Amino acid sequence: MTSATASARKILTELHELMASRANAQAKLNQMVEIIGAALNSEVCSLYLLREQALELFATRGLNQSAVHVTKLALGEGLTGHIAQQVDTLNLAEAAAHPDFQYRPETGEERFHSFAGVPIIRRERAVGVICVQHVEQRRYDDVEIEALQTVAMVISELISNAELIDQEAVADLSSSSTGPARLSGLTLVKGLAFGRAVFHQPRITIEHVVADDIEVERQRVYSAFTKMREQIDDMASQAEFGVDGEHQEILKTYKMFAYDEGWSRRINAAIDSGLTAEAAIERVQQRTRMRMREIDDPLLAERMHDLEDLANRLLRIVSGQLGTAAKLGLRTDTILIARNLGPAELLEYDRRRLKGVILEEGSLTAHVTIVARAMGIPVIGRVSSIRHMVREDDEILLDSDERIVHVRPTEATLTAFESKFNQRKKRQASFAALRDEPAITKDGVPICLMVNAGLRDEVSAVNHSGAEGIGLFRTEFQFLVSATLPRRERQMRLYRDVMDAAGDKPVVFRTVDIGGDKSLPYLRKDTDQEENPAMGWRALRVALDRDGLMKVQARALLEAAAGRTLNVMFPMVAEPWEFDEAKAIFERQCQFLTDHKKMLPEKIRYGAMLEVPALAETLDILIPKISFLSIGTNDLTQFLLAADRAHPKLAERYDWLSPAILRFLARIVRNVDGSSIDLTVCGEMGGRRLSALALIGLGINRLSITPAALGPVKAMIRSINLADTKAQMSTLLSMPPEDLRGALRSWARAEGVEID
Ligand code: PEP
Ligand code: MG
Repeated sequence: MTSATASARKILTELHELMASRANAQAKLNQMVEIIGAALNSEVCSLYLLREQALELFATRGLNQSAVHVTKLALGEGLTGHIAQQVDTLNLAEAAAHPDFQYRPETGEERFHSFAGVPIIRRERAVGVICVQHVEQRRYDDVEIEALQTVAMVISELISNAELIDQEAVADLSSSSTGPARLSGLTLVKGLAFGRAVFHQPRITIEHVVADDIEVERQRVYSAFTKMREQIDDMASQAEFGVDGEHQEILKTYKMFAYDEGWSRRINAAIDSGLTAEAAIERVQQRTRMRMREIDDPLLAERMHDLEDLANRLLRIVSGQLGTAAKLGLRTDTILIARNLGPAELLEYDRRRLKGVILEEGSLTAHVTIVARAMGIPVIGRVSSIRHMVREDDEILLDSDERIVHVRPTEATLTAFESKFNQRKKRQASFAALRDEPAITKDGVPICLMVNAGLRDEVSAVNHSGAEGIGLFRTEFQFLVSATLPRRERQMRLYRDVMDAAGDKPVVFRTVDIGGDKSLPYLRKDTDQEENPAMGWRALRVALDRDGLMKVQARALLEAAAGRTLNVMFPMVAEPWEFDEAKAIFERQCQFLTDHKKMLPEKIRYGAMLEVPALAETLDILIPKISFLSIGTNDLTQFLLAADRAHPKLAERYDWLSPAILRFLARIVRNVDGSSIDLTVCGEMGGRRLSALALIGLGINRLSITPAALGPVKAMIRSINLADTKAQMSTLLSMPPEDLRGALRSWARAEGVEID
């Protein structure tokens, strides 16, 4: 055992003995600062606790005793207030040099130059500060800071057990909060929501700090490390499906930290000093946090997020609290906070309880966003500091329309929000009033508006919203919500229910598009790890290689559509013969059903998605084979721009309304023109008013969009003159301005088109 560990252990033992004594609370506090001050050889040791929203000096060794219960600092005021507000440690050779330094004459602290203080944390908030001061100018060394951090943890435990202060004061501490904050991000799914923060991966509250048996704690941490390393290795080996939105780079960092001997050694040393496994992990983490903050490097800050994730994972394993918030009795006004989520993870949540989602990463066309859109849940992404700024249960106002998150909002913000909420309701009511009106341009051209769906309960939207059908039914959503591969009967029931609900309106079933960012834990791929899962073995490629999957789905679809029209569409067709192969699987199943005297659909319409650019070059071969073509702009644009649709750093770099994308789409329209097939756009682009305007101006007259966009897009269509729009698009594409979006927007506004 090192001398540092021994001295930390000595403090813990003395504090333990003190707590067992019969002294009253104030006497205990007085002795406590003496013990710590003496152990750290420090002239001053002071303890501040939060009372009535102020940090009050509760005990001190070295400062004037008359200042006890007199000196009070607001959160953020002075060095002590700074520590409590930031929930962070300070270690300063010259206290007066810090911008937040404030001199309090009643304490007599003018003689002391060096200063170190650590927050006393309870439920992620600082409820007090313990600090030491020296006459001489010197920075405290690691051992001293660690000892202070350990003491702070013990004090926190003692406070929560009401051993140091009375019950009333404990309640006061628990309700304390830091001030309001306003964070901005990227709108992923529009909407407003109010609720309380729930972490997708709940933070662990450390209940016991001092170990009863060090060997037991060492063993607990050892097995937690083994388990965590297994989990990380497992995630890396599943990376072929995109690992629920986590990126390769993060995984690499996870792996590096998980196997870092230095990290486990430091945790072990903390256990040697007498801490429980949980407290040891947290103490080491506090120390690392402080170090990383001292180094002003954005790359390191990002790595720090990774390490925080991993430390939290280790804490959850060691304390046996493994489930995500979805499994832990969700509150009814949940605003979910996560670094990122996979679509399957989001689908685990009860949508009635989930009011909004805030992600540190996220992008517009990632499938988690598409699923959230389908669930009608507002999402803001790219809020990089959210997990640091927010604590579990904090009130949150999410205004995705304005890209803003209000954390712990003031009364004034809440009132302003309420009126916005009402305005929004009015707007929605005006869109809903358009339900039975036709989507027709001012010069009399009808545009066919359909909806995208994939979840069972979305289907009712077809009838309620006035859509002309379901232009894209993402069948893989059922696979994503299932714990195991859905059997044929289950698939069949869903497809039949969907067709029943749609009545006379058509439903386009897309065969499973698994892979990319849609990972199925129960369907491991037999390839090595993929570098580029979105361009890898996914969608039709999986279905053609593992034709068992496709056969089952074909049977389910054919049986569900017995006696009716079946519209079936294949995703990620890159070459016309892939379409032939997929169709042949369906035809063989038709033959099987005929042989078994089962009823077939009255009519089968086969179609393809155009989302791999190469297919656009062979449309002359494909068109005679198909009844309809649907442009998947989410994938198509990612491939045209070579920009991963789920990559958070690229989320704002490229615009759909770029000349390259629009010219490409215009060419597809020209190539399809004159044929008898239907051409639809079913990517997210069609659900945004300005880009929908551009698409219509290119000659696309069928859109399949998210149900919430139906009203706004219909209102836009009813405000345009198609001939003028086409002429404007043709002008913009022949001599594209640098800011095509801006130019189109200005034109639309001048023409009175409803785009805002
Ligand atoms: C697309 O790629 O545009 C599309 C509609 O399919 P998905 O978003 O499911 O990949
Ligand atoms: Mg796609």
